[in-house]
Amino acid sequence: MNNLIVAIDGPAGSGKSTIAKLLAKKYDLTYIDTGAMYRMITLYLLENNIDINDLKEVERVLNTVNLDMQGDKFYLDNVDVSTKIREKRINDNVSKVASIKIVRSNLVDLQRKISNNKDVILDGRDVGTVIFPNAQVKIFLIASPEERARRRYNEFLEKKTEITYDEVLKSIKERDHIDSTRDESPFVKADDAIELDSTNLTIEDVINFISKEIEKAK
Ligand code: C5P
Repeated sequence: MNNLIVAIDGPAGSGKSTIAKLLAKKYDLTYIDTGAMYRMITLYLLENNIDINDLKEVERVLNTVNLDMQGDKFYLDNVDVSTKIREKRINDNVSKVASIKIVRSNLVDLQRKISNNKDVILDGRDVGTVIFPNAQVKIFLIASPEERARRRYNEFLEKKTEITYDEVLKSIKERDHIDSTRDESPFVKADDAIELDSTNLTIEDVINFISKEIEKAK
């Protein structure tokens, strides 16, 4: 039997990473957070003052930098950047970096490589459309922008980041816009993905729904 691939695509705050982590545990799947990879590249470019329009330099970074993921921990050239990649400055820049063609092709290759021969669950924006169009389970998880901003705002409050709800909502809407209108693999629902709106659902509701799909596919 082929290895199982579960694709969870959705915008910021849709709950996809929370859901993907819980399902990974429940079904013993390897969890791959594809957004974290774009975040790590963005962090490197920012910290090294690299102009994202200098494609030669961006390519050099992609060919030399080392990205490693172990559970909830993310390592950039062996340094733990798990907290840094969630900072506001990364949120504000990651969509621009993720719209660069060479960044996408490089990270998609890596995402396929680390999924090879494993039962995996990946979350992102292009899992069901580009990385694994043949995934056995494809979920397009959405929620209203206001609900997504509320969830993200609460996370920022827990981390004691100074930010207002309106700023979070604005940043989420900006990211949605850049991600869904870019030329390279725009964030769109795959024709055969199941759309699930989590605005008024509990985490348990979403887990139960997707669990049924996984069990059908197994
Ligand atoms: O999911 P997360 O919010 O961590 O993703 C950060 C950003 O990375 C997204 O806003 C998007 O620009 C980019 N991304 C992407 N393709 C993916 C995952 C993330 O373009 N598969």
